[in-house]
Amino acid sequence: MTTVGVLLETAGRERRVALTPDGAERLRKQDVEVLVETGAGHRAWFEDVGYTGAGCAVGSRQQVYAESDILLCLHPPEDAENCRPGQLLIGLLGVLHDPGLAQRLAATGVTAVSLDLLPRTLSRAQAMDALTSQANVAGYKAALLAAEAYPGFFPMLMTAAGTTRPAQVLVLGAGVAGLQAIATARRLGALVTGYDVREAARADLASTGAAVLDLRTPSAEAEGGYARELTGDEAQAQLSGLAQAVPRFDVVITTAQVQGGSPPLLVTAGALAGMRPGSVVIDLASTVEGGNVEGSVPDTRTVTDEGVTVIGAANLAATVPGAASTAYGRNLLALIASLTPGGEVVLDLDDEIQKAVIVTHGGRVVHPRVKALFEREIRS
Ligand code: NAD
Repeated sequence: MTTVGVLLETAGRERRVALTPDGAERLRKQDVEVLVETGAGHRAWFEDVGYTGAGCAVGSRQQVYAESDILLCLHPPEDAENCRPGQLLIGLLGVLHDPGLAQRLAATGVTAVSLDLLPRTLSRAQAMDALTSQANVAGYKAALLAAEAYPGFFPMLMTAAGTTRPAQVLVLGAGVAGLQAIATARRLGALVTGYDVREAARADLASTGAAVLDLRTPSAEAEGGYARELTGDEAQAQLSGLAQAVPRFDVVITTAQVQGGSPPLLVTAGALAGMRPGSVVIDLASTVEGGNVEGSVPDTRTVTDEGVTVIGAANLAATVPGAASTAYGRNLLALIASLTPGGEVVLDLDDEIQKAVIVTHGGRVVHPRVKALFEREIRS
């Protein structure tokens, strides 16, 4: 019988858990054993008693590593060296940004499955699409965070004390997070404008009812529906167009990413300086190396000399841990079902989904893109 183990996330601000009691109960009904690390769901309000009530065992981290056939996590575990040959580790492992991790995982003999490599446009893969489920949560929370930080109302309000004008919100990047931020800000009554560098995303934008900012830049599509990195000239043209547009808005939410690359800079310090005092900018792409907004710092709220609040918010899904964990757990259930057709793990490296998400197997890095990145890293 297969045992699925759930690890506690150890990253400081992480509050999600890879599987909720409800998800675990679904596995139990299929005769899968579930072993949850003590306290794994606590920060998402899923207590150990909820898991035991769902028929799971709760145990130490050591036990989870030792007894699980399939280990579930969100972030790559810091102590992944405890994985063992024949075991599966499934999570958002981020190996395109850290190919060295793939090498370390390979050394343990574990079969590492990275959900951020899922071929998302395959209809069979959609139920497993954790990037989408988590970006959806992040986009929703970004609009709420912006509304909370903004000193005015989002909607137009007609009261005895007068009429307020609606907030003007600009969303840069109209992927999953951006579209959800647009929908949520519109529900709150703001006047929303969106922008994306891909033609397909501009069409999605138009269907939301938001206004579309047109900077007359060419469509920049890459494989799998992702955006490609802009050339130097294209990026420069985009920056100067945005520097003119951004100061017209009260709130800017940025969500732009390039798969496997650095997030593009979209809002410069100059553009920020042109915004009105009290304006709010939320950078969902904020990293320590930089994000979409110049000077944004992850998990930090700063106020510029001109009175613009800049919030670096790279892991917003973790701040809505109940909904985010529930959705992530469902993505994992769909993936586990496809990996265990008769109740036991059956790997098929020719399967379109498995081929795309399996990073290491049999002690080697088997994912060609990750392997190439690692070899390039060694050479440089
Ligand atoms: P993402 O997180 O990689 O990027 C967010 C958005 O930023 C994207 O729309 C991208 O075009 C945009 N962007 C990148 N560089 C930019 C720049 N310089 N200026 C402005 N915008 C920029 O995107 P995502 O939300 O993860 O979606 C990635 C792709 O996956 C999309 O094509 C999406 O349609 C596709 N997808 C498909 C499905 C499906 O078919 N079911 C589900 C989810 C996502």
